[in-house]
Amino acid sequence: MKPPPFEYVAAAGLDEALEALAEPSLETRALAGGQSLVPMLNFRLAAPERLVDLNGIEELARVEETESGGLRLGAMVRHLRLERDPLIARRAPLLAEAAPFIAHPQIRSRGTVGGSVAHADPAAELPAVLLTLGARVRIARRSRGGEPGSRVERTLDLEDFFLGPFFSALEPDELLTAIEVPPSAPGEGTAFDEVARRRGDYALAGVAARVRLDSRGVCDEAAISLVNGGSTPCLMREAARTLVGAEPTPEAVEAAAAACAETCEPAADMHANEAYRRHLVRTLTARVVSRAAGRART
Ligand SMILES: Cc1cc2nc3c(=O)[nH]c(=O)nc-3n(C[C@H](O)[C@H](O)[C@H](O)COP(=O)(O)OP(=O)(O)OC[C@H]3O[C@@H](n4cnc5c(N)ncnc54)[C@H](O)[C@@H]3O)c2cc1C
Repeated sequence: MKPPPFEYVAAAGLDEALEALAEPSLETRALAGGQSLVPMLNFRLAAPERLVDLNGIEELARVEETESGGLRLGAMVRHLRLERDPLIARRAPLLAEAAPFIAHPQIRSRGTVGGSVAHADPAAELPAVLLTLGARVRIARRSRGGEPGSRVERTLDLEDFFLGPFFSALEPDELLTAIEVPPSAPGEGTAFDEVARRRGDYALAGVAARVRLDSRGVCDEAAISLVNGGSTPCLMREAARTLVGAEPTPEAVEAAAAACAETCEPAADMHANEAYRRHLVRTLTARVVSRAAGRART
């Protein structure tokens, strides 16, 4: 299949892209890596009248360390860079660990962090991983009715960004410009794992975990997020809370895994039924929480 016809704008800068998105007469979509959007066009699941290509916007492709020691990832940072950038490996090793699970290298060389988050696919790895890290999204649009070129920006907790399957808090005239990952605290460990039918396929289920231990080895903070565990990328707050205030013993880890499996809301489809997905969530949660706790100890 070929895509329906569309106008194409290669934006040279962020303001040019925001200007194009702000124009109300044409339904306009951002084009990032194209790894989800182009198949959607070809299958006629989307038919925007205009695409604004973000690939020429240098400021969206930066990886920066923030003043607080966290990371700011520009929306156009490619998945492959998450695997290879030493700063990312140092500051947010969970991203480097999870990125190789996304599709294949060819797709990872084009697909972007911003595209993956904006697409809001509950089966995608990065939204779950970024939720576990407590990330926030930076969003920009052109001022409505204001001077041409004047920008309005907002920041949102990622948890408030995902509203439904493939549905986010982004307005049609808004662009996701960056993702901010807070600094990791001393005593923190993270881990990710998933099960897919074949390497590179979307996961049947996946789990990301972050555990922080105090000097006595007691967990004082934990976060667990699921890939394909519900209709949106989801943080399992209740399950993570069961870990806080005690040492992450095998019994405590198993209790958190059971709570995750009980409270998640996985879909049933041709690849796996609900019961099997719950089973995977339980097994993977136990595995990644104990791995994260082990890393926190060392
Ligand atoms: C064969 C195949 C297998 C795949 N397997 C996996 C997998 O296992 N796991 C996984 O997570 N992903 C997988 N993907 C998807 C891939 O990771 C995509 O790269 C990602 O979902 C979207 O990123 P993109 O940069 O390609 O965005 P695009 O396809 O360009 O855009 C996706 C959507 O987001 C919007 N958008 C993009 N950037 C912005 C922005 N900055 N601001 C606002 N809106 C924006 C677009 O308008 C569009 O609606 C797979 C893709 C293919 C083709």
